[in-house]
Amino acid sequence: MREVQSLTSLCPIIIRQVAQELANDPRRRKDLKKQLEEFFPCLELAVETGDSKHLDVILSKWASSLTHSDMVMSSNDLVFIINKMMLVSVQVFQKELDQEQAITLINATLPHFAFAVQKVARFENQIQVDFLLKELHAAQKNLERQDKKKSDFVTVIGHEFKTPLSLVEGYTDIFEESLEGQELTSDQKLYLNGVHNGLRRLHSLINDIIDVSLIDNHLLRLNYQPYWLVHLFTALKSEFEESVKARNLELEIVPFWGQDEMAYGDPDRLLQVFKNVLSNSIKYTPDGGKIIISGRKLPNYVEITFKDSGIGIDVEDQTLIFDKFSLLEQSTHHSSGKTKFKGGGPGLGLHIAKGIIETHGGTIWVESPGCDEIHFPGSTFHILIPLFDSPEENPSFLIYQPFPSVKQDKEEHHD
Ligand code: ADP
Repeated sequence: MREVQSLTSLCPIIIRQVAQELANDPRRRKDLKKQLEEFFPCLELAVETGDSKHLDVILSKWASSLTHSDMVMSSNDLVFIINKMMLVSVQVFQKELDQEQAITLINATLPHFAFAVQKVARFENQIQVDFLLKELHAAQKNLERQDKKKSDFVTVIGHEFKTPLSLVEGYTDIFEESLEGQELTSDQKLYLNGVHNGLRRLHSLINDIIDVSLIDNHLLRLNYQPYWLVHLFTALKSEFEESVKARNLELEIVPFWGQDEMAYGDPDRLLQVFKNVLSNSIKYTPDGGKIIISGRKLPNYVEITFKDSGIGIDVEDQTLIFDKFSLLEQSTHHSSGKTKFKGGGPGLGLHIAKGIIETHGGTIWVESPGCDEIHFPGSTFHILIPLFDSPEENPSFLIYQPFPSVKQDKEEHHD
């Protein structure tokens, strides 16, 4: 075939010219020449058979030797080199052959050059994609590591706080016992009351921190057992009786069909959720307002609602409040009691509530027309809990390790 003969005779000129144009450094030029010398026999075969596939092996070899840094650092990427080979070849054909021969050879080689360009472009794209995927994966891993470090830190801090706190609690109890039978002055009573309140708040804060870390690490385990909603409501009512009275609020628990049926779940954890939601309803409802707890049984679920006549929540904040440390503008940024109007808090209660409810397989959300501290549009929290007939129906059937009792710690640290 005449085209192949012409190509064979012209390829040393083409290789020299391409190498000269692409590499200034003699060593690099020599390397490049060696690579090109491998390419042209394949091109000749492709021209002879009319099948571009003969270029596959050499192109794959070139592509597999490419690294991403080659592509970023060097303008001599494969597409560029092949384009250059094509241009130089056309110039050499035109210069060295008569017009008719040159056109024949251009027609014979161009489709194979085009094939080569397409192929390496695809390789290069793939390398870029692989590189970006690798970077993304590394960034993701890094983020996960950072997240884990943060959670581990919170867990360690939470547990480290527990020991001294339990010691203070224990010694306070002993001190109080030692005062038994003595008439305390009003100042002494005030101080002791202050110590107890402070300890209670610290205790609850540490428990919240530990719960957040359990939830964030998917380590929250539920102690599944039979429970009755009606009993949880009774416990809830008596827990908040005093603060409801102190704030002159009306708390109505509306009975509903199904509230006295037995269900399976973790009653302590559900009560914790109800307490978190109700303490917020109390906190964000002005004195004299009303809170209604009601519910309804649905197929396989029970929905409980906490409706208050409080300041309400802006629509854009209604999902944010379930994130941890989600303190909205209207909340006071300091802890001033669990039930005082707009008393503020660490911003963990709803995050924990969401974690507990979702571990039960349920959902929690809020509805409110918006936040308005003049007209008090109120908020309604909805809690949807699945109803299981037996504990085995729920996969999260493991026991949560509760906060050790003061007595236990007292025995361990009685030094
Ligand atoms: P905390 O009460 O400790 O600040 P929470 O996670 O319990 O944290 O609540 C997050 C935020 O959601 C609160 O700071 C408050 O701004 C808003 N919020 C929660 N419940 C209500 C409610 N019933 N009415 C108005 N705002 C509420």
